[in-house]
Amino acid sequence: MAVRRALAAVGLAIAALSCGGAPPPPAPAPPRGSAPWRYAVAAGAGARELAIEAAIPPGPARRLSVVDGTEPFVRDVEFAPPGGELEPIAEGSAMWTVPACPGAPPAGCRLRYRFLLGEAALAFDSVDYAQDHNGALLSPPSSWLLRPVDDAADPDETRFTLRVTTPSGISFVTGLFPSRSDPGAFEASLGDLPSAPYSAFGPMELRRLDAGGGAVQVALLPGRVDLDEASVLGWVTDAARSVAGYYGHFPVPHVLVLVAPVQGSGTGSASTMGNGGAAIIARLGRASTQRDLSESWEMTHEMIHTAFPNLVRRHAWLEEGLATYVEPIARARLGLIDAADVWRDLARGLPKGLPMEGDRGLDHTPTWGRTYWGGALFCLLADLEIRERTGNARSLDDALRGILAAGGDISVRWDIARALDAGDHATGVPVLSELYARMKDAPVDVDLDALFGRLGVRFISGRVLYDDGAPLARIRASITERVEIAGGVPGDTVSLVGGGAPPRGSLRP
Ligand SMILES: [Zn+2]
Repeated sequence: MAVRRALAAVGLAIAALSCGGAPPPPAPAPPRGSAPWRYAVAAGAGARELAIEAAIPPGPARRLSVVDGTEPFVRDVEFAPPGGELEPIAEGSAMWTVPACPGAPPAGCRLRYRFLLGEAALAFDSVDYAQDHNGALLSPPSSWLLRPVDDAADPDETRFTLRVTTPSGISFVTGLFPSRSDPGAFEASLGDLPSAPYSAFGPMELRRLDAGGGAVQVALLPGRVDLDEASVLGWVTDAARSVAGYYGHFPVPHVLVLVAPVQGSGTGSASTMGNGGAAIIARLGRASTQRDLSESWEMTHEMIHTAFPNLVRRHAWLEEGLATYVEPIARARLGLIDAADVWRDLARGLPKGLPMEGDRGLDHTPTWGRTYWGGALFCLLADLEIRERTGNARSLDDALRGILAAGGDISVRWDIARALDAGDHATGVPVLSELYARMKDAPVDVDLDALFGRLGVRFISGRVLYDDGAPLARIRASITERVEIAGGVPGDTVSLVGGGAPPRGSLRP
């Protein structure tokens, strides 16, 4: 398990990482103010080339670019004022400066260009920029949508919409949330574009699971897998059920899950990207067995990331710690693993999260151990303290559900204090903020043997024995208590809907 966590750590290095009660959280309301940018993308044969047109609102001269590195694949940029002719715009320093656009909304200007997606995939071979996976081209909109890069305007205040048309046999999928006001389009803010969710063009099998208030779109990328489709979908469904059970509902209204067949067996590295939506990419070995899927924790871990806002990089330990701590608990509550597995996993893992020589606290020690297991230790300590201070009436569950209810999912970027305050507000005790103040800048050592003793958990020859007379025995039992499957329990409402390929030619979210 440690090896696989290490693999996941590599895969997640640049991912927007992250970790909710009652009805699903409403999608954030679009900010008022500037008129939206409207992108229309037409994919050519095999989606090797994209023809892109944008309607951009009136405004001053702007410098436009794509994510750093994909500029060489942008071609023939042209701009037209309202009612005017398209004129070429020359590239300068990896940017295109377009003139001021006169008038007032809804008038605007036209931008047109091509993007050589196939060539970009050959050059990068990376899902973060562009990658060819057996004929499907994986590439986030960050790579191919020209956006304003001037510092003057606040990109979070300006929305954009995206429509994509594809030739017969080619689908387009994206983690961007569907627009609520523009059916058939996707919508986010320009501030989301620098690290937008995973997206893909190509021949793929699309399925939809309704998971506790959220929709999970599964895109099975080209490639053979020995397992049948029902097993693969069951793997995604179990993960969605466990996460919906922990948070009371599925954390986001829409998530794209890209399943990429790869060499070998088992589930390997997986990663999640938010910012305007939610998307997960998970590799699945061709020779995987049903047992590999049953033992896999990665899909649950990634789905937990969708339930927490993006934080800046030095706080990645909280995003990873939450996913590491909550994942086995969520699975145990659904009965997918035993409670003993949760404690065994923590006993093996937590020592790797303790501060070593030279440690400068969680915010300043970005090692693998401190990020994943140091973060998980923070979460365990927080869960125990919330439960102790509230007589076991409140828990980390309530804190995380509160953060989600306040709008803190992976589609947004938050300051850590905002997330911790929302969690503390939900539990009524400021445990998260206080514990963060203690652990962020200083190495805090924890006597894990004493902690497991208080929980009444002992390990004898690989077996887990419980002492129900231990001071925290009741709390320990509550942590892994099975989710009640009674009428309408969200974790039980995952069902398969539809199936088969969507309509050809144009793909709606
Ligand atoms: Zn993670």
